[in-house]
Amino acid sequence: MPIVVACPQGHRWNGTKQRASRELAEKGSLPNCSACGFPFRLQISHDIPGTKKTNQYEVLAVFSPYSAEKVEAEKWDPYIYELVDTRTNDRLIWTQYWTVNRKGKWAYGQSPPILEPAWINAAKQQFGIL
Ligand SMILES: [Zn+2]
Repeated sequence: MPIVVACPQGHRWNGTKQRASRELAEKGSLPNCSACGFPFRLQISHDIPGTKKTNQYEVLAVFSPYSAEKVEAEKWDPYIYELVDTRTNDRLIWTQYWTVNRKGKWAYGQSPPILEPAWINAAKQQFGIL
């Protein structure tokens, strides 16, 4: 699912999506856009297979079970996201991870990350839904 990090005016975040996820997980928000002053947001679009439909989500909160040090040590960076469907206002949970590819660069994982049950509970607590 493509991730875009932008402010409400459409100015793009000048960093990686992985760093935006880390900042949201650790600080609870992203900095304000230097061009317009509105906060950056993480937005996700999801094409529904077999249809021409695309769902749009905004990230409300992010949980990371790993510290930045553990991410570097293990070369694996898993996240759990709390999303809101911008059309229906439904709340959803999504998972994503980054890992180091053959070129030594951080890249999206292409399949859902394997999660520990305790991470789900910690994420729900961070999202305020436990
Ligand atoms: Zn802006």
